Amino acid sequence: MRAVVVGSGAGGATAARELAERGFEVTVLEAGDPFKPLTRTLGWARPLRRAGLLGSERTITRVFPHMEARRSSEDLVLVRGVTLGGCTAISTGNAVRGDGALRGIGLDLTPELEELEGRLGVAAVPRDRWRPLTARMFDEAEALGLVPRPTPKAVDLGRCVSCGMCELGCATGAKWDSRRFLEDLQRLGGTVRTGAAVTSVVVEGGRARGVLVGGRERVDADVVVLAAGGIGTAAVLKASGLPARDSLWVDVVLTVGGVLEGARMLEEPPMVWYTSREGYILSPYIDVLSHWFHPPWRDVAVEDRVGVMVKLADEATGSVGADGTVRKALTEADRARLRDASALARRVMEASGVHGPFVEGMLNGGHMGGTVPLAREDVAAMRPPWLPEGLWVADLSLVPRSQGLPTMLLAAALGLRVARTIAR
Ligand SMILES: Cc1cc2nc3c(=O)[nH]c(=O)nc-3n(C[C@H](O)[C@H](O)[C@H](O)COP(=O)(O)OP(=O)(O)OC[C@H]3O[C@@H](n4cnc5c(N)ncnc54)[C@H](O)[C@@H]3O)c2cc1C
Repeated sequence: MRAVVVGSGAGGATAARELAERGFEVTVLEAGDPFKPLTRTLGWARPLRRAGLLGSERTITRVFPHMEARRSSEDLVLVRGVTLGGCTAISTGNAVRGDGALRGIGLDLTPELEELEGRLGVAAVPRDRWRPLTARMFDEAEALGLVPRPTPKAVDLGRCVSCGMCELGCATGAKWDSRRFLEDLQRLGGTVRTGAAVTSVVVEGGRARGVLVGGRERVDADVVVLAAGGIGTAAVLKASGLPARDSLWVDVVLTVGGVLEGARMLEEPPMVWYTSREGYILSPYIDVLSHWFHPPWRDVAVEDRVGVMVKLADEATGSVGADGTVRKALTEADRARLRDASALARRVMEASGVHGPFVEGMLNGGHMGGTVPLAREDVAAMRPPWLPEGLWVADLSLVPRSQGLPTMLLAAALGLRVARTIAR
């Protein structure tokens, strides 16, 4: 049986590897190019940053083309990895089980999550690798009753040099990303093509028969698996005349910035602990996007900048067009919860000796899902009934709502379950 998997991120690479293990002849089609971490020194950009001459967030895509940053509304920027490995290549390596939304519809992915944690070597960063301020903020969060805990990470700490630049790619290869599964796939005889943007699914006689690459080249298959992420999968479905839902969520991130001279927070792995509240998490983090491109962050040097990230479970109100255009804005309810969360982030910093001016960072979202939501009645089949025969989805699009938690492990677990269901 021939399977085509569209997208090479967490869901796609995991599904592809599993299908190959089960005897399928697998081809992965990835729109982006092979990934290279950004190792060039950014010293030249410092004076431009201070003078406000770096331009907008779009500059980041010019300097680092694997990271796409674009606005989906006046104040929200969406970030995704368009490259081999998808968003995993630019992730910070957090490997948290964010499966509450799926449990809510009766889907228990515990076996897949456990299996993946073993394969990825998930472990927390020991406290002696945290910066002193990060440890102090953990203790103060604990004293405030916020029950912080060390973040599980898919990072080989023996190889991690604590450069703090995970989002620009891991220069030492310490951080897991889904390219490792693609290497396994190739050893199993599978094929990986980059620069192969799928434009639509070929449906004939009510059945998926393959895909079109670049609008022209037809690639035939018995099984088509869309794993192009919450945006990419929805765009391909709509371009194929299929009804992806206008229920995109993105896990809105807002980093609250404070100041402590010599904090040097970048010199540790990001987000080494987190505390989970109703609908959001808080975690220590220097937001690279805000540091470089957000005017209110301009006046403080990175060595003195302190950040606590709010990652918010946003309402699923976004839409994706057939051409990939995204519309997504914050709702009033999102804004109200963000205000509470950001006040708490500031409280943790103040209790730890961090001072102002406290400034909010750029609103951004980088966990895209919800456009092909599973319902309770779809759990056994692992696909909504409106998909034509032979067409599957194996990425975060399947998750009906945002949880404000890391999503990489969840997308991979979905890839595993979908691949096993296909094989069965
Ligand atoms: C900066 C950043 C940091 C993050 N850090 C973490 C973290 O620490 N922990 C965590 O759990 N999560 C993190 N995430 C989120 C996590 O990486 C993603 O949610 C997860 O990878 C989603 O998996 P996916 O398979 O749904 O999509 P993706 O990983 O986005 O993969 C989709 C792939 O499809 C490709 N594609 C899109 N359209 C097409 C097309 N038409 N044809 C062919 N290919 C296409 C894309 O180029 C991409 O490679 C982060 C995200 C970002 C942006």
